[in-house]
Amino acid sequence: MKKPFDVNKIREDFPILKRKVYGKPLVYFDNAATTQKPADVINAIDDYYKLTNSNVHRGVHFLSNEATDHYEASREKIRAFINAASTDEIIFVRGTTEAINLVAHSYGMKNFRKGDEIVITALEHHANIVPWQMICEATGAVLKVVPVTESGELIYDEYKKLLSEKTRFVSVAHISNVLGTINPIKKIIDDAHGAGAKVLIDGAQAIQHLKVDVRQLDCDFYVFSSHKIYGPTGTGVLYGKENILDSMPPYQTGGEMIQSVSFEKTTFNDLPYKFEAGTPDIAGSIGLGAALDYVNKTGLDEIAEYENELLLYGTEVLSSIEGLRIIGTAKKKASVISFVCGNTHPYDTGTILDNMGIAVRTGLHCAEPLIKGFGLPGTVRASFAFYNTVEEIDRLKEGIIKSIKMLNG
Ligand code: PMP
Repeated sequence: MKKPFDVNKIREDFPILKRKVYGKPLVYFDNAATTQKPADVINAIDDYYKLTNSNVHRGVHFLSNEATDHYEASREKIRAFINAASTDEIIFVRGTTEAINLVAHSYGMKNFRKGDEIVITALEHHANIVPWQMICEATGAVLKVVPVTESGELIYDEYKKLLSEKTRFVSVAHISNVLGTINPIKKIIDDAHGAGAKVLIDGAQAIQHLKVDVRQLDCDFYVFSSHKIYGPTGTGVLYGKENILDSMPPYQTGGEMIQSVSFEKTTFNDLPYKFEAGTPDIAGSIGLGAALDYVNKTGLDEIAEYENELLLYGTEVLSSIEGLRIIGTAKKKASVISFVCGNTHPYDTGTILDNMGIAVRTGLHCAEPLIKGFGLPGTVRASFAFYNTVEEIDRLKEGIIKSIKMLNG
């Protein structure tokens, strides 16, 4: 297999990969749930608390100004990473879930009316289903769902059929967390705009794998979580076009997001602060900036190339196991492999693998409608990051074969 970089050297950057579990070297294949953190990120957070800790945008004093500079520098790194036009378009949030809730509530409550239609797809994470259901209930709008094929690709003609003058909003995952399908989002965005709808792209599973250029995509919103791209948990990003964010009311209110408060009337702060009520996760945002520096230093193209090699190798190796069926065989996929082994329950397979030091995710993956649509109780999911190796995939294969033998008596 071709190697765009020295994976052993990369692994040195991630302290946790030296860990043993149950006395065995850890094989971490749960990267779609959360990624591990390089020392650069851990050190940035450590340095912040040891040297800079202070509240942002508040003080006249040295530390507060330094914390503000670091926090805002991180916002600029994110802007550059996704090629947004301005840092005013980069809102720090807790993660993808909060970003979607923010847009659904703020944009949706203002703009959706009875009979309006919101389009999502059958392969969405619950975070991109439930907020829209809630807003539909509150406004009388109607949720429409684009179906998927057996291989896990969107049925594009059905999407086109759903688009009409009633469509107000389209909200779609860039990449499915269960199947790894890479959706044709540029086409989806252009067609939605053709129907006069706004578009949100859930980038939780894409930002760590693909180059994202929000201006080239022309999406209205793009959202992602820091922890999926080697940054800390508890922080994430809402990108929105400036004119649209400007037109939206605040989602949460309180300190930081105001210009002036009196008991008679409050005026709101400018972007991006209008949407950042209260003390933010300063350390987390700085940690995300460090994570993006790390990814830039490593090279997203090189990461993508290596992960694709892992996907091809993993698909070949796992397909060769008798009784194993891969769920999600789209032509364009990220390094995520969901599978089932005969009639064995995914949880049992996952538990046996865990005992061998192999971490996979099992179950519904917060995408119950999709898994139920396949008529399954769940899947086992192995998701690869650029610090994984072919040797680890070989260990997974051995583990699965052993689990099939054990579970079939
Ligand atoms: N959307 C997708 C596609 C995801 O994979 C996830 C995380 N599994 C989310 C949304 C939610 O992300 P978070 O829990 O970080 O808010």
